[in-house]
Amino acid sequence: MNHTTLDVDSVRAGTPGCSERVHLNNAGAGLLSRRTLRAVTGHLELEAAIGGYEAADREQERIGRTYADIATLIGGRAAEVALFDNSTHAWQAAFLSLTHTFGPGDRILTGRAEYGSNVLMYLHAARRFGVEVVVVPDDAHGRLDTEALAGLIDERTRLVGVSHVPTGGGLVNPAAEIGRITRAAGVPFLLDATQSVGQFPVDVRALGCDMLTATGRKFLRGPRGTGFLWVAEAMLGRVEPVMPEIKSAEWDGARGFTWRAGAERFASWEMNYAAVLGLGSAVRQALELDPAVTGARAVALGARLRDALDALPGVTTHDLGLDRCAIVTARVGDVPARAVAAALAGQGVNVSTTDPSHTQFDAEVRDVHPLVRLSPHYFTTEDELDRAVALIDGLARGR
Ligand SMILES: *Cc1c(COP(=O)(O)O)cnc(C)c1O
Repeated sequence: MNHTTLDVDSVRAGTPGCSERVHLNNAGAGLLSRRTLRAVTGHLELEAAIGGYEAADREQERIGRTYADIATLIGGRAAEVALFDNSTHAWQAAFLSLTHTFGPGDRILTGRAEYGSNVLMYLHAARRFGVEVVVVPDDAHGRLDTEALAGLIDERTRLVGVSHVPTGGGLVNPAAEIGRITRAAGVPFLLDATQSVGQFPVDVRALGCDMLTATGRKFLRGPRGTGFLWVAEAMLGRVEPVMPEIKSAEWDGARGFTWRAGAERFASWEMNYAAVLGLGSAVRQALELDPAVTGARAVALGARLRDALDALPGVTTHDLGLDRCAIVTARVGDVPARAVAAALAGQGVNVSTTDPSHTQFDAEVRDVHPLVRLSPHYFTTEDELDRAVALIDGLARGR
């Protein structure tokens, strides 16, 4: 750490995809560094050479370092981290660990930006337990309205679940303000930080969340099929895994068991250790480059791209919020978003599109999806943005 400047050329030289594509889909999956690629393939080769269990034994220290480095990245402790195969499973483990507190008339408070799978789980819990799902309205900027939240939170509230950054836009929700409100009320705060961890600094103590989930493959640049859950130590006494496995608990020799001390009680016994080591490599690289430095650049590139697109005739951006991030969403004339993405792909530019079913509560009030979603990262160059903008200008003008 302690880097004050970012050597973009050197980062790009260590990222094979940078010479192949203009990659503006880091909200989908970030580009792997060569170092992370080697961490994954190296472990697979070791497994093939000496055996899977034996390879894990040999790499035990580096596997353990993955937990410690994730903890450093988000300001938690290693024992508060559990590894998963994606963010959704981590989130489900956290959410389901609270359902024993749910009863008819209880409430879950969430925001308009909430992720599609989380929304489905809330609606499922409404059917199963009779809880009411309340969507906290937006403020004038399109963020979760914290004043409205403070007015809604009460003794029936069992959970506040919020997506820090939505999957379909540049919004950054006021997580620290939400954390102050949930702490004062003593209500668990589950933060879906899938799009924020790796994009800009995320500190669990500063944000005041009780549980946080993230994925490896997006802005963190880890391999696909990785994710993690962080559970505050103080929270561990209030939650229970719904799907225990042999790693979750200690058998007492009779018919009893005791949960293991840390968050690992939520994780499965079997793991893809090559992917775990890849995730560890990506997190280490994020720490070395300094999330404050890479985050400032990613967000600045997002702002530059947003401004450039808004200046094009026929193109409008649709990102809510006040301090917006590196995710940029746009409509390009009357060209369907998927046609824009396909045309850009044909020119070597990777972008994605939003889907109303991935943010159902947002789609209820904004009839804008699907939009073109462009998500640069700190390794993106200004030239690459200019190239994408020029191509979009051509599409908007029907060329
Ligand atoms: C991508 C995404 C998820 C799901 O992450 P997976 O690793 O695919 O399970 C959850 N929340 C948000 C906000 C996302 O963008």
